[in-house]
Amino acid sequence: MKTTLWMSRAAMTVLPILALATPGAQAPQGQRGQAPAPAGGQPQQPVQVTTTKFGNNFYAIDGRGGRMGALVGPDGVFLVDAQFPDVTDRIVAAIRQVAPDARLRFLVNTHVHGDHTGGNENFAKLGATLLSRPMLRARLMKPSPPAPGGNPPAPAPAAALATVTYDDRTTVYMNGEGIQLIPLRDAHTDGDTAVRFPAADVLMTGDVFRSVGYPNMDRNNGGTLKGMLAALSLLVDTAGPNTTVVPGHGPITNRAAIIAHRDMAVAVRDRVSKLLSQGQTIEQVVAAKPTADFDERVGNAAQSADRFVQQVYAELRGPAPR
Ligand SMILES: [Zn+2]
Repeated sequence: MKTTLWMSRAAMTVLPILALATPGAQAPQGQRGQAPAPAGGQPQQPVQVTTTKFGNNFYAIDGRGGRMGALVGPDGVFLVDAQFPDVTDRIVAAIRQVAPDARLRFLVNTHVHGDHTGGNENFAKLGATLLSRPMLRARLMKPSPPAPGGNPPAPAPAAALATVTYDDRTTVYMNGEGIQLIPLRDAHTDGDTAVRFPAADVLMTGDVFRSVGYPNMDRNNGGTLKGMLAALSLLVDTAGPNTTVVPGHGPITNRAAIIAHRDMAVAVRDRVSKLLSQGQTIEQVVAAKPTADFDERVGNAAQSADRFVQQVYAELRGPAPR
């Protein structure tokens, strides 16, 4: 039952209430961070930062940008990702609600995109040591243009760059956890990391696995279909039957959802491959809607289905036009 509830799109808001009604279940607790009034009187949409507890001391943090994670305890706070810089204050306030005195120790980025790294500089200035794969660090220093031939974004400031890089499985011991940093090679980007908290039984997948929408291989940042499928299989092997799977976007879910997502991606790959071998152009393959029977279950198809098909086609046709 827990599984289906977690799949619900309203999971983040209904979980605290359900937790009260089901003693003995893993009990996530909702907490609201204090949201300071926007400065300067701008008509800004106020962002609510919420935390959801799993295990003894892990919190998923939703605000503006990709979902973050925080492991808190006497050894300090270990953060996963940084969201956008304008919500740092509210995220810190939310962390202070659950860990009033713990100092910010480490922050690891799951990948380079701005909704996951935008707050890096702020958190570094608050004392967190930044960790990332070397490819991610290099891409923050020298960003790729959003499309071939376009203008690249400005390089990130030095303070936003990792001071420690790793490219193999790495373990950070604190707060009773052996936090595993797991490189996922050339998947969503070429600098992806999944983060596993074995004691809390939580697996954070970054954007390699999103629980809504089709996979996105960001080819301008080193993402590949081959790497994506291998990474999804590695995530399936890494998660246990009761693991809480915390994606970068979309409802918090479980291992079965990653399996379904991986199998869907393989099926679409095979369909596109067949159409390509019949000599169809990319336009014809997109028009054939090879994802159609998955669209309702996967969600957000209008924004992500055609993009996924185009990325699959481009890689299968190869070589990558750059
Ligand atoms: Zn991303």
